[in-house]
Parts: sequence; C-alpha cells; structure tokens
Amino acid sequence: MASDALPPCSRNASKPGLAHIISSNKEHPMPTYDLLLLPGDGIGPEVMAEASRVIEWLNAHGTATFNTDSDLVGGSAYDEHGEAIADATVDKALAADAVLLGAVGGPKWDGVTYEARPEAGLLRLRKDLQLFANLRPAICYPALADASSLKREHVEGLDIMIVRELTGGVYFGEPKEITDLGNGQKRAVDTQVYETYEIERITRVAFDLARKRGNKVHSADKRNVMKSGVLWNEVVTRVHADEFSDVQLEHILADNCAMQLVRNPKQFDVLVTDNLFGDMLSDEAAMLTGSLGMLPSASLGATDENDRRKALYEPVHGSAPDIAGSGVANPIATIASLAMALRYSFDMGAEADLVENAIAGVLNKGLRTGDLMQDGSQTIGTTAMGGAIIAEMEALSA
Ligand code: NAD
Repeated sequence: MASDALPPCSRNASKPGLAHIISSNKEHPMPTYDLLLLPGDGIGPEVMAEASRVIEWLNAHGTATFNTDSDLVGGSAYDEHGEAIADATVDKALAADAVLLGAVGGPKWDGVTYEARPEAGLLRLRKDLQLFANLRPAICYPALADASSLKREHVEGLDIMIVRELTGGVYFGEPKEITDLGNGQKRAVDTQVYETYEIERITRVAFDLARKRGNKVHSADKRNVMKSGVLWNEVVTRVHADEFSDVQLEHILADNCAMQLVRNPKQFDVLVTDNLFGDMLSDEAAMLTGSLGMLPSASLGATDENDRRKALYEPVHGSAPDIAGSGVANPIATIASLAMALRYSFDMGAEADLVENAIAGVLNKGLRTGDLMQDGSQTIGTTAMGGAIIAEMEALSA
C-alpha cells in the first residue's frame, strides 16, 4: 500500500549537518505545516515550552516552516469551557497537519463529572481523529542503561517499536455492562471484538515500519484461548504473505511475549498487538528504558485522499502534579515526541535524527533532570535541559 506507507525511520543515521539542511532548502521550496500545540495541565505547559523552542530553532534552520497554534485540553479546557475539549479545538486538530500534546489531568479536577474529566479530552481527540495505531518506541540511551531495572547488557542499545491497536478490542467492544442478577450477584461483561479491516490496517503499519528498521515483526496474540486471537493470527499471516513476505514475521503468545521482554528484550524490533495486550506490553517495555520522562509516543490514523495522515504526538507520562510548577520536569519525552512528528508526519528524517542525536549527546555529557539522576551527573531543570538540547543541535549542525 504505497499510499499508506510511512516515511523512512532511520534513527541515529549519519549525522545530519546544517549544510545538508540548507542545501535541500535551496533545491526545494520550503513546505509549510500547521502544528497544533495542546500543552494541557500540570507539567504539560512546562515541557511544551521546551518543545516550542525546538520548533522555533527548526523554523530558523530547517527545511520547513511550522505555523503553530496553541489551545486548551484537559482540566485547563474544563476551567474555561466546562468540557475537556471544545468543539472548536477538535476542529483545529482535524485541520492541522499534526497535533503535539503535553499531558492532562490532576487532583484539581478529581470532582468533575466522568464525561468532563480531563482524560475525556484526550479520548475524544483519539476518537474524532480516528487514531487507530499507537506507536511507542522503547529506546534505551546508552547513557541511561544503568537506570533500567534490567542489567546493562540486556538493555544497552535497546530499540523496540511497539505498535498497539488503539481504537478496537475489549476497551470498546459491546456489550460492555454490569448486570444485577437479582440474587445478590452481579455479572460484568466486556467484549473483545476485532474485524478483519482493523487487523489489516494495524498490521500494515507494523510491517511498513519494520521495513525501515530491523525488518522483523513479532505479532502477539492469545490464539490458544481466544477467537479474536485466531482471527488476528490469520489476518497477520495473510497480510504478511500477500504484501510483506520480505519482512521476517514471528507469532508469539502475548504471555510469552511479556516474559521475553524481560528475558531478552533485544530480540524484538517491531511488536504488533491488540489494544489490551498493547497497553500492558508497552508499559512493561517502557520500564526497561529508565524513566517515564523519556518516553515519546505517536498515534496515527489512516491516510486520506491527499495522502495526509491524522496524527497526535504526546509524551507517555501524565501531568505529574507532584512536581508541576517547580521547573524540574524532564522535557525529553515531549521533545522526542516532536521528533516522531518530524519523522512520521513531515517526512523530515534528517531533522528527527538531529533532535534524537542531540538528546543522546546531552545525556552523554552527564546532564540530567531530577528523574534521571545518577552518581556523577549534573542536575538541571526543565528550561536548562531544553536549552542544552538546542545547543547540542546547534553543535551537531555546525
Ligand atoms: P504521571 O506520569 O503524571 O507521574 C508519575 C510519576 O512520574 C510522578 O512521580 C511524576 O513526578 C513523575 N514524572 C512523570 N513525568 C515526568 C517528567 N516529564 N519529568 C519528571 N518526572 C516525571 O502519572 P500519575 O501521577 O499517575 O498521574 C498524574 C495525572 O496525570 C493524573 O491526573 C492522571 O490521570 C494523568 N495522566 C495523564 C496522562 C496523559 O495526559 N496522557 C497519562 C497518564 C496519567
């Protein structure tokens, strides 16, 4: 499916120099992209401010111009509009080339109705933009290998891409209810349901990514006990044979996958799985890499008739109310989410590499926010970390 193909994924490819960026700038007219920024709540605005500085740098030095607009989501939207996201904000997200979100939530909104809770804004965005593919890289920067719960040799250089189906499965299947049986007992039902097209489209995203990485896909299911697993396995096998036979495919039972992730995580390249297993396995893989403050994510929809793919990029972490306002939050997950946007929405692989290499460079120099502290490293705050990453981008581009 050429029209559905993702742009190249070349993490840590050769060092992208400013000369390269400027020369491609001369050869091609500079494209302009609309990027909607939704900082959200808690540390969201703090980490988004640092991503915004990176965008400003790219505008001054890059191959594209980003027109940014900023709006409210989560608790901050509730305070303003009485709902977790306004219709006008959703319209802006639908019109934008990509959305970058900070984080939502916090104890301030614990008492609001279920429908208006901060997370409802995020869920509505995922639903209205039809973001069915959640990409969560689990990358272990060598400088942080000792922060993992596993031994250095198991995680150093780890680079897994987990592709989780995000809009189907047991979280959305009907019936979904609790019935009072009238005899002092209740029955709770959730329904795990998948249709062929849902499995086909997520499978294609996974294989397409694998072609641009290590060319290997593991597909995790529970075909031994679940009918949805039987169909999942059948569809993945067919899509592989018909369209991606050049990519190595291994089927793995989801429980064994959970075990293999802590036994020998470097055996994985791309891991595709359903909504429920993806929720669990991506959190497990995340912890292999050290801190929540390091983890980016992307949620992608289908391509439209103009080959544009709706996309939302966000750090995996929440609004961290315990540290909000104190200037110590780690902005790396948000800046790395912006790098994913450069790669997957704007086909700017060289610039994505530049941002990711700058993050690695800053970590190699021993600069750390408080969540990453190690013996012998230097603690810096949110703004200093953003500044250090930009300085490193400058140095790598010189
Ligand atoms: P959290 O991710 O906000 O925080 C967990 C711990 O990690 C905290 O100790 C926090 O200080 C730390 N932490 C998180 N991000 C960090 C960063 N960038 N730099 C340094 N330290 C960081 O999870 P939580 O405490 O369970 O949830 C807090 C709020 O966030 C809740 O309202 C929750 O619903 C919401 N939440 C939102 C999202 C989202 O917006 N996608 C995701 C998870 C939780």
